[in-house]
Amino acid sequence: MQNLLGTHATHRAHSAFFVKHVPNPPMQDLNFHQSVNHMVQRAFDVLGLEPGVARAIASTQSVLQISFPVEIGGQVETFTGWRAVHSGHRLPVKGGIRYAPVVDQTEVEALAALMTYKCAIVDVPFGGSKGGLQIDPSRYTRNDLQRITRRFARELAKQGFLSPATNVPAPDMGTGEREMAWMMDTYKHLYPEDINYLGCVTGKPVAHGGIEGRVDATGRGVVCALREFFRHPTDVVAAGLDGCLEGKSVVVQGLGNVGFHTAHLLQVEDHARIIGIIEHDGALLNEAGIDVAAVRAWMNAHKGVAGYPDATWVEQGTHVLSHPCDILIPAAFESVIHAENAESIQAKIVCEAANGPVTFVADQILRRRGITVLPDAFVNAGGVTVSYFEWIRNLAHVRFGRMQRRYEETRGREFAAALEWMTQHPLPAAVRHDLIRGAEELDLVRAGLDDTMRRAWQEIRAMRDRHPTVEDFRTAAYVVAVEKIARSYLDIGVF
Ligand code: NAD
Repeated sequence: MQNLLGTHATHRAHSAFFVKHVPNPPMQDLNFHQSVNHMVQRAFDVLGLEPGVARAIASTQSVLQISFPVEIGGQVETFTGWRAVHSGHRLPVKGGIRYAPVVDQTEVEALAALMTYKCAIVDVPFGGSKGGLQIDPSRYTRNDLQRITRRFARELAKQGFLSPATNVPAPDMGTGEREMAWMMDTYKHLYPEDINYLGCVTGKPVAHGGIEGRVDATGRGVVCALREFFRHPTDVVAAGLDGCLEGKSVVVQGLGNVGFHTAHLLQVEDHARIIGIIEHDGALLNEAGIDVAAVRAWMNAHKGVAGYPDATWVEQGTHVLSHPCDILIPAAFESVIHAENAESIQAKIVCEAANGPVTFVADQILRRRGITVLPDAFVNAGGVTVSYFEWIRNLAHVRFGRMQRRYEETRGREFAAALEWMTQHPLPAAVRHDLIRGAEELDLVRAGLDDTMRRAWQEIRAMRDRHPTVEDFRTAAYVVAVEKIARSYLDIGVF
């Protein structure tokens, strides 16, 4: 295993569409990786972990850096990518692969660490990993991207960083089902004797071993997290709000996979008011609410939000982060709330759908200002949770619900008949339908996701209540995670 800690690659130019303007954090701010480590340090302090044990938990286990050439339009281009393994205390390690013009080793290390803590928080039995390829996908054709992805996958597999048993990537920024299908197919051709080849990546198309409900899993998980938060009135009041999600004003940054599904579900299922959408080319504002699906359709057609007719366009999109609202949902990328703008945030709740959107310094400012932060390592864990279900499905080689659905229907029919016989009244058609309906895979996935998010939040709350020195949910979440990871190391005799 190659260990290249400390190496960096040069950044490529941005394109007009796929823009990832990671703001230069102010001098007193820390970089993403340092931020994560400082935040976790608070949990180490609460638990009184020995520094050596804390260091062992916080360290990146290994990092692979790969550079590989691909011929694009008659010219040879060299691409650089990374895959970091933060902790292999559980195998396989798990985490997305992002394609972005600005990605580097420290970023994937930070993201890999977050994955370790995230999996522990939601009781998904994986270690943490993350990958990145420095590329602006909007500059390449589908065919080019396929060749680049297949080459990247081959290198990862050859180096032991892609396998259903040890390292299982998933989609992240700039990647989706398509890239996962290419990676899986590449692995299958390299290792046809591996009967579990489908499990080498998650987030695949359903027709290629994916699972129903994975595409919107992260966004749905964010919504499950918010719903569970609103089930605890004392926390809602402490955040300066009351009631439920209905009518709450929401600003979302990033209308990609995570941001779109989060905002859309909040709008159509919870009747929240999406008053602001921040994208790469500006922001939209409308206090009466913005039709999320219509904006997404507009973006597909126009490559941005500018010109969308039913809202006011703000050229400096990031300024809208400070727009007054009940819930601010950063769902684009890291370090967007930092030392320089944290004082101006006017949301009651910051719900971290992206990874690392709040820097360490900003987190301290938000806490001092009494703004409730729902932490990324919990909030966006829906993706890895459903990835876990997909991986189990791939290893089991059977769709969830296949064995029991008809059986459940038969039992439901018998139960309905018994009820009708006892009451001598026919059941209303809708009641009868619900009673005899067997669970589809999607029902089971959504139920499992909701249960996972609810249990995890209850554990985080209980942890916060148990430790008088823990005031914020982020520290509580990390205490939950670190306790489990330390326990796992202890049980196998590492410490
Ligand atoms: P995505 O690429 O699908 O979406 C990102 C969105 O951000 C795009 O719509 C893009 O146009 C927009 N964007 C780019 N530059 C912007 C700017 N300057 N201002 C505002 N918006 C901008 O990515 P995604 O998969 O939705 O991931 C978003 C975040 O969620 C990342 O931090 C990722 O690590 C995290 N995350 C993703 C998943 C997942 O399942 N996809 C799971 C957990 C966490």
